[in-house]
Amino acid sequence: MVKEKCEKDTVCDTCNESGSCSQQEKEAHQQERLTSRLSHIKHRIMVMSGKGGVGKSTVSTNLAVTLSLDGFDVGLLDADIHGPNIPKMLGIESKHVEGSSHGMIPIEVFPNLKVISMAFFIGGRDNPVIWRGPLKHSAIGQFLGEVDWGDLDFLVVDLPPGTGDEPLSVAHLIRNVDGSIIVTTPQDVALLDSRKAVIFSRMINIPVIGIVENMSGLICPHCSKEIPLFKSGGGEKAAHDLGVSFLGRIPIDPEMVTDCDRGMPFVMAHPKSEAANAFKQLADRSKEYVGFKEIEKQFEKEKFPYHFKGQEVKR
Ligand code: ADP
Repeated sequence: MVKEKCEKDTVCDTCNESGSCSQQEKEAHQQERLTSRLSHIKHRIMVMSGKGGVGKSTVSTNLAVTLSLDGFDVGLLDADIHGPNIPKMLGIESKHVEGSSHGMIPIEVFPNLKVISMAFFIGGRDNPVIWRGPLKHSAIGQFLGEVDWGDLDFLVVDLPPGTGDEPLSVAHLIRNVDGSIIVTTPQDVALLDSRKAVIFSRMINIPVIGIVENMSGLICPHCSKEIPLFKSGGGEKAAHDLGVSFLGRIPIDPEMVTDCDRGMPFVMAHPKSEAANAFKQLADRSKEYVGFKEIEKQFEKEKFPYHFKGQEVKR
């Protein structure tokens, strides 16, 4: 039982009364805080992949940025405990998370995009995280319950690759996830794993929004002919075979690698590119899936314009 005097949103570590609480009371308080935080988040989307290196973090980042450029309040949770790359992709890897009596304050990238990642807590960027399941579960629990996310329209969660501890933890902790986006590349070995990711998502009761095929063809910069570097079309076939939606193809764009490395979201740097269009389509399909009609949202226009890396960002 949580004591009467406990304030829901105050974390136990900063509470003067916490010394008089039993472990059981603290756990009950944590659970209540988690439920309270999640009640402020309208939609929760997981980005998953069957294997690493297929562009899952790139997709999570550009999806979150696209939704925030649409005016939504977005949180991006980098749940990849062992390989947290999102802060690097957004150029915020040197930031430090501060705390308040209401919990950890996520890093604000734009006025309506906040990020939390293990990368902010591990000191040197080369330090590996060597943790077993229960510690990872506890870290993800804290990222959800002890972070002061505020009111969000979307929480995009970048899960580590595969079908292991972290997705199970997230599913257990969040419960009513709107759906998962499975990122794959077109070659058979990747598709085999993404099929597993679809089945895994269903097994843990997370509905599948659909499959997106990343690194789907490269336009030759010299002759403009498309080169199917990792083949093409496999993601669509897998989606059809598994009875889930196909969310589109994102071509290989060498600028994406450069943008990721320099901490600039690709969709902002190259908004007119084919790949940015594919991210826009992915964001639209996600909004459609969760039932967000653009008209329903009272866009907070006062947030725009703002500046990011010397660039004026408008709606
Ligand atoms: P994952 O999260 O699946 O391990 P990342 O998102 O970290 O993969 O991407 C791995 C690398 O591939 C990064 O350098 C990223 O810039 C690059 N990448 C991802 N998608 C594309 C794409 N469509 N075109 C070019 N490079 C890409």
